[in-house]
Amino acid sequence: MKPSILSYTSEQFQKQMIETLGKGAQHALLIYQEWFRTGLLLGQHPAFANAKKLFDTICSSVDWTIPALNLVHRPLNSRDLGDDVLKHQEGNTTKFLIKTQDQLDIESVIIPMQAGGTLCLSSQVGCRMGCTFCETGRMGLIRHLTVSEIVSQVFIARFILKASVRNLVFMGMGEPFDNYDAVMEAIKVFIDPHGFGFGPQNITISTSGRVEEIHRLTDHPGAIPNLALSLNAPNDQLRNRLMPINRKHSMQDLYCAIQTFNEKRKKSVLIAYVLLRNFNDHPEHAAELASYLQGLNVKINLIPYNPQSRDRFQSSEPAAIAAFKESLIKAGYRVLVRKTKGQSIMAACGQLGNLALRNASFG
Ligand code: SF4
Repeated sequence: MKPSILSYTSEQFQKQMIETLGKGAQHALLIYQEWFRTGLLLGQHPAFANAKKLFDTICSSVDWTIPALNLVHRPLNSRDLGDDVLKHQEGNTTKFLIKTQDQLDIESVIIPMQAGGTLCLSSQVGCRMGCTFCETGRMGLIRHLTVSEIVSQVFIARFILKASVRNLVFMGMGEPFDNYDAVMEAIKVFIDPHGFGFGPQNITISTSGRVEEIHRLTDHPGAIPNLALSLNAPNDQLRNRLMPINRKHSMQDLYCAIQTFNEKRKKSVLIAYVLLRNFNDHPEHAAELASYLQGLNVKINLIPYNPQSRDRFQSSEPAAIAAFKESLIKAGYRVLVRKTKGQSIMAACGQLGNLALRNASFG
C-alpha cells in the first residue's frame, strides 16, 4: 500500500522522491505546496509545462485518497455538500464525522471564532482513560488514529467544508498523549511552512494527565504546541473518582510536571475544569483549586458540564459557576468560562463522543 501524502512533511516528501527517483525534489515541493495550500492537484505551475511525466511519476508514488465524510444530520445551509456528508450544527458550530477505511468514525468540531475558527481534533477512536464524566471514555479504546487520519480532519475542514481554521486543539476523542508519536508527527505536518503553515502557538494538546508525556513534550527539541490539562478536581480524592489516571499520577506529580513545563518552556498551561453540580463546584473547591495551582503559570478554563442521557452528573447552576469564577479571579488567576457555543456537542476532551450521532452514522 502506498503511503498517504497526508502523512508527509514537505521535507520528508522531497527526501522520498530523491531516494526513489534520484531527482524531483523541487517538483515534489511544488506539488506539496499546491496540495496543502489549495486542496488541489492540478500541476499547473510552469515548471510542469515540460515535465508532465515527472509530475505523473511523483503523484503516483503516494496515495492521495481523502477519507469520506459520513452523513448523520444535514443542516439546512449545507445542502450543497452532497449525500455523503456528516455534519451537525449548533449555531455556527459544526460537527463532522469522517469514515475510516475500516468503517470507524473520526469526530471533529469546527468552532467559529472572531479571529478564525478553532478545529477540535480527535487522536483516537474511543479512549482507554475511562474518565467517568466522558462519553468517549465509556467506549473504551477502539484504536489509535494514524498520522494521515489526524491530518485528514484539517484537510477536510479547510478544503471540503471550506471552513476558516486558525487554531487546532486536540480535545476531541481520545487522549492525545496515548498516541504521542502520531500526534507529534501530525503536528510536524500542520506547522510545515510549505503546507498548512500553522504556528505551534495556534495548536494545543489537551491531556488527562499523562505525566511521562508532559515531560516528553517539555523536552521535545524545537517548537512545541500549547499544553492543556484536563484537571476537573481540586484534590486527589475527587479526581480519583472522576479520572482513573489520577491513581497512577497524583495531583502532586502533575504539579511538578506543570512546574517543569512552565520553567523550561516559558509557557503557561491551560487548566480545564469541568464544573459538575454538587461534586466539584462548591466555594471550598474553588479555594482548594486556587491553593493547589499557586506558584504555577496557568490560565483556567471553566467548562459548564453537558449532561448526557442517564448521566450521574448534572451541570452546575449559573450562580455556582459565577461564584466559582469570581473566587478564582480574586485569588489572582486568569479565568474564562467556556461559552455555550458548541456546548451540546463538546465539553472537555472526549465529550465529542456522542452516542446518538455515532449510532445514526452506522444506521
Ligand atoms: S475525558 Fe479525554 S482522556 Fe478522559 S476518557 Fe474522555 S477522551 Fe479520554
